[in-house]
Amino acid sequence: MRRAGRHFLQIPGPSPVPDRILRAIDMPVVDHRGPGFADLGNRVLHGIKRIFKTTQPVIIYPSSGTGAWEAALVNTMSTGDKLLMVETGHFASLWQALAMKLGLKPELIETDWRRGADPDLIEQALRGDSKHEIKGVCVVHNETSTGSTSRIAAIRKAIDAADHPALLLVDTISGLASADFRFDEWGVDVAVSGSQKGLMLPPGLSFNAVSEKAIEANSRASLPNSYWQWSEMIEANKRGYFPYTPSTNLLFGLAEAIDMLEEEGLDNVFARHIRHAAATRTAVDAWGLEVQCKIQDEHSPVLTAVRVPDGSDADQLRAVILAECDTSLGNGLSKVAGKVFRIGHLGDINDVTLVGTLSAVEMGLHHAGVPHQANGVQAAMDYLKATREAKAKAA
Ligand SMILES: *Cc1c(COP(=O)(O)O)cnc(C)c1O
Repeated sequence: MRRAGRHFLQIPGPSPVPDRILRAIDMPVVDHRGPGFADLGNRVLHGIKRIFKTTQPVIIYPSSGTGAWEAALVNTMSTGDKLLMVETGHFASLWQALAMKLGLKPELIETDWRRGADPDLIEQALRGDSKHEIKGVCVVHNETSTGSTSRIAAIRKAIDAADHPALLLVDTISGLASADFRFDEWGVDVAVSGSQKGLMLPPGLSFNAVSEKAIEANSRASLPNSYWQWSEMIEANKRGYFPYTPSTNLLFGLAEAIDMLEEEGLDNVFARHIRHAAATRTAVDAWGLEVQCKIQDEHSPVLTAVRVPDGSDADQLRAVILAECDTSLGNGLSKVAGKVFRIGHLGDINDVTLVGTLSAVEMGLHHAGVPHQANGVQAAMDYLKATREAKAKAA
């Protein structure tokens, strides 16, 4: 049966793709080795550096984010190398599992899945590694399963305080272009990202930003790799080309996405996300529900994971919200399955999109019989009204 109106895709990635990007992608496929291609190649290869805030190479793969996770490791590590990983949630666990499949030896700092990575614990672990066997510290910038962020600049400081040579590898798949990220300033060695979250593109592109130190580690690393090889990419990219067929039409979209982010201004994009996250938490408080992330400074601007009361099932609630309000929300993953639902407020979102989404949640809580107080949407609107001035000044 036809459903009138637009579907609300409010999962924390893929995020809704703006019409402007869909139109940019809707082009005839071009010859990726032809003389004109380098214009597009150079445009996106230079533009994406500004989004990562780096002057270093950023490699663009035709793959999902998981591919770029693998690329980060196979280009910098050798069989049996130790990693220090922080289990902030489901995505950190998946990266760890991937590392083990590659024959690496991750040492894990566990958490209760309600916070970001703790820089002090990282420093302690590195100080304990006097032989410098740990070759990489792997952290998820925005943990999409729990809605917590890790303080990457503080983690860099912790690594330096321990005087440890390990590389800093950061998954900013859902962080980039939604939450502030500064590759050069924060001293990140490899940043991993993807197209379908803050960049507002369909799934299918992924990224590795690579520091000098990472490139140097690459020359010594011996894990086998071919498709993911940085050196061939970097060489071809110098002329605006790729060693194998890139996702040509997604690159048209990427060029448009970069334009859109820069027209709005990255700082305004980040402020918009922070404000929408705060409005969402205001609604959650008013409903009498609990946000999964417990640390004030580590609340994600990208998504909010909400705990349902004991005795309620978050997946049943999501099913009701989908059926009644044509709105998709994110599910709880592994440890928190059925216990949380996730509201995505990333990408091409305005106040009205957010209020619409929160309305769907509030109606769904009612229809599904989840114990809550009404007026969460009103509280969020009050917050948005009260903070309107700040937004107008930033623009
Ligand atoms: C989405 C996401 C991934 C996985 O990316 P895919 O494109 O699904 O492979 C990994 N890490 C984080 C933090 C994510 O949000």
